[in-house]
Parts: sequence; C-alpha cells; structure tokens
Amino acid sequence: MEDVEEELEKLRIEVERCRRCSLHRERTKPVLGEGPAPSKIVLVGEAPGYWEDQQGKPFVGAAGKFLNELLASAGLKRSQVYITNVVKCRPPKNRDPKPEEEEACAPYLERQLSLLKPRLICTLGSHATARILSFFGLKPQPITRVHGKTFRTQSLLGEVFVVPLFHPASALYKPPMRSLQLEDWKTVGRLLAEIKGFPEEILNFQNRSLLCRRAPGHG
Ligand code: SF4
Repeated sequence: MEDVEEELEKLRIEVERCRRCSLHRERTKPVLGEGPAPSKIVLVGEAPGYWEDQQGKPFVGAAGKFLNELLASAGLKRSQVYITNVVKCRPPKNRDPKPEEEEACAPYLERQLSLLKPRLICTLGSHATARILSFFGLKPQPITRVHGKTFRTQSLLGEVFVVPLFHPASALYKPPMRSLQLEDWKTVGRLLAEIKGFPEEILNFQNRSLLCRRAPGHG
C-alpha cells in the first residue's frame, strides 16, 4: 500500500509541474485526486472548478456537497472512495475541457487507475463517461442514454465495472435532475452487494447506513 501512496505522491509532484497543455497557465492548484489508495471504488469527474482550483481538492464546492448526498444514497461515505477528474487543471471560466487537453492529461488518469486498481468506476458526466468507456475499448455513448447502467469490462486491470452517472453539478442548474441522480446512485448501492471482492468494511458500513436511512425517524 505504501508503494501505491508513494507512486501517487510522485504523480502529484509531476502534475504540479506539468505544462503539457495550456490549462497550466491559469491554474492556481492542480487537482490530482483524493481518497484511499488503493481504492476499490474510483469516481472520475470532468475538471476542477473554482473552489477545487483554490484548494487543490476534488469536489469541494456545492457539487461536492451534493456528491456526498449521492454517495450516502448508495450507502457510502466519501472517505471510502477515491475521487479524481479527467483533466487535473481548471479550464478558464469552467468551460468544458477541449479534446486536446483531455488527451494531454489522459496518461495521468491511466496511471492513477493502474495504481488504484478499482473494481468499480463511476464516471460523473459526459466527458468522464466517454473517456473511461474508450479507455476500456467500449464505444462512447451519450450520458442521457447510459446513465445508471453497468458495463462489465476486462482489461489489464482485471474485471472492472463501470457505471456512468450524471455530473452532480447538473442538479444545481436543473432541480429535476436531483431525484434522477439519487435513483441512479441507489443502483450503484445495489451493485456493490453483487460484485465479489469488496472489502467487508465497505459492505458492512453500507448495510448499516442503508438500514438507518430506511428506518422510521431517520431522513
Ligand atoms: S490539465 Fe493535465 S495535461 Fe494539462 S497542464 Fe494540467 S496536468 Fe498537465
């Protein structure tokens, strides 16, 4: 485990010095990612936003708060998942990352995945979904068609399940997206129980947390 943490630390230093694409010019802090290492569950978002760029951490703004809620609906807590993005530096004015920026940054994401060795990858939004499906040799598909579905993949990483999900920020602009996203994350919760090899501590916490949420008097 120490080796993984050491390797991720080396990667963090590389990313801090990286000038492979023009996004390095306006970044305050690059955001490599955060979470346990190795990690059975990895979430991949699109790009750091304003607060992430300020703090050097993923999903710390309003979208991050909603992400915590979504994780809870799957019976998970944030400290049980590793969170990263397709590009590690904030695009100016939060615009979408350009294809050449995603391409330049892809080797970092690929190295992270090979170090973290996830069994489940949840992609957050269309950019992350297209990137991860292609990474596993699958045809990219619109997020509106594949959200909440499970893709079972085989690669050098072994068997990995991929679940495309909407980006949590989409619920901030379109409130009806909120219930749709909560439903999709419940699917993630059910899937965890079906995938072999998840550590007991994740499953036990999940069972307890979902029981609490169902019990009368608990939100
Ligand atoms: S976005 Fe990625 S490739 Fe571009 S400068 Fe930042 S770390 Fe380097």
